[in-house]
Amino acid sequence: MDKQTEFVLRAIEERDVRFVRMWFTDVLGFLKSVAIAPAELEGAFSEGIGFDGSAIEGFARVYESDMVLRPDPSTFQVLPWRDSKPATARMFCDITMPDNSPSYADPRYVLKRSLKKAADLGFTFYTHPEVEFFLFKDPLDPDKGPVPVDQSGYFDHTAQSVGSDFRRKAITMLEQMGISVEFSHHEGAPGQQEIDLRYADALSMADNIMTFRVVVKEVALSQGIHASFMPKPFTEWPGSGMHTHMSLFEGDNNAFYDGSAENHLSKVARHFIAGLLRHAGEITAVTNQWVNSYKRLAGGGEAPSYICWGRNNRSALVRVPMYKPHKGASARIELRSIDSAANPYLAFALMLSAGLAGINGEYELPEGAEDDVWSLTERERRALGIKPLPRNLYEAVAIMEQSELVAETLGDHVFDFFMRNKRAEFEDYRRQVTPMELKQLLPVL
Ligand code: GLU
Ligand code: MG
Ligand code: MG
Repeated sequence: MDKQTEFVLRAIEERDVRFVRMWFTDVLGFLKSVAIAPAELEGAFSEGIGFDGSAIEGFARVYESDMVLRPDPSTFQVLPWRDSKPATARMFCDITMPDNSPSYADPRYVLKRSLKKAADLGFTFYTHPEVEFFLFKDPLDPDKGPVPVDQSGYFDHTAQSVGSDFRRKAITMLEQMGISVEFSHHEGAPGQQEIDLRYADALSMADNIMTFRVVVKEVALSQGIHASFMPKPFTEWPGSGMHTHMSLFEGDNNAFYDGSAENHLSKVARHFIAGLLRHAGEITAVTNQWVNSYKRLAGGGEAPSYICWGRNNRSALVRVPMYKPHKGASARIELRSIDSAANPYLAFALMLSAGLAGINGEYELPEGAEDDVWSLTERERRALGIKPLPRNLYEAVAIMEQSELVAETLGDHVFDFFMRNKRAEFEDYRRQVTPMELKQLLPVL
């Protein structure tokens, strides 16, 4: 038995854990959970826990539905929102086939495959997301539209507000689970919050994001309100993005940093950005996976609509934050398209693959855009070679379908399932007669 497994078994006794939840994530990014009794744990570590993969969205073909959960002992944590005596804990799981080979449908495995490619080049991939979301009053009635818990705006500090109480409680719980928080504040729209996680390796971070979503929802429910990661709940207010900062490390050295280069950005960083830009259209169906995601990207609200990069330019798809001398040899870049409702495993896998393609192919970084790209005319943007991001899920899937990079990174099974599922979502949407059409057309036609 290895040390981590021993640690888990001991912790279960010491902390009186009666339920151990096995967590994993389906292809669309929904968390799944099965609870086992502590007595089953040794067996779970040695043989895994079997389940019916065909019952999980996107997992298995029916004729090979048996799959096995393999708990990862390094992810063991007691859940702070449950009673402490007896307690409930969780571990994230990898998924294998009965012959022990990794499951082709497991998003965690998709990310691990990409991380391995980076490791073969000597790189570790770190990410740090700024997660935005809304807090709504109870009851949540989709027919009437959501009601925000407050009317505050960006960085507003209001005494005893629901939002600040909420953030304090959520952050305390995240820290109890080993997830460090760097910043938190009220965002631009009524009821909108942001919590920024301290950087971690991309696999831990994807796990952390899945935990974050549960913690935020649990804390909201405990306060009699609702949290939502829906990308664009209001037409008239900005949506919720999950801007993600990225860097590659070679051992202890930040491979994006070069003290003697312009903006302190190394050649590796420049190629990485070039890769993200060249493949941006192809990966958008995954970084922005819902019909609703594209309403956030429709222009303004500090969400990007065009494929370009810039220093401190909040209209750009990729932003290079200002160099901070007190942070030493540090450099990072921020992708601003991805939203809070993406599957973090699949999205990080594709962001990394796009960047690595830029490094391997030594892609040339185009000129940065220092203008507000929304205020340029179509012709000016064309002259600068600035292309739009896909404007809806249909376009995004059509571009993804042509992408070798995405097919290779996701693997055939996830790639095919994802496209089929997203096409169906768009077809469903296309048939809808919306309130806007009724309001505009009924009186005049
Ligand atoms: N809410 C904006 C978005 O959808 C971002 C605001 C900000 O710059 O943090 O991307
Ligand atoms: Mg923000
Ligand atoms: Mg940001």
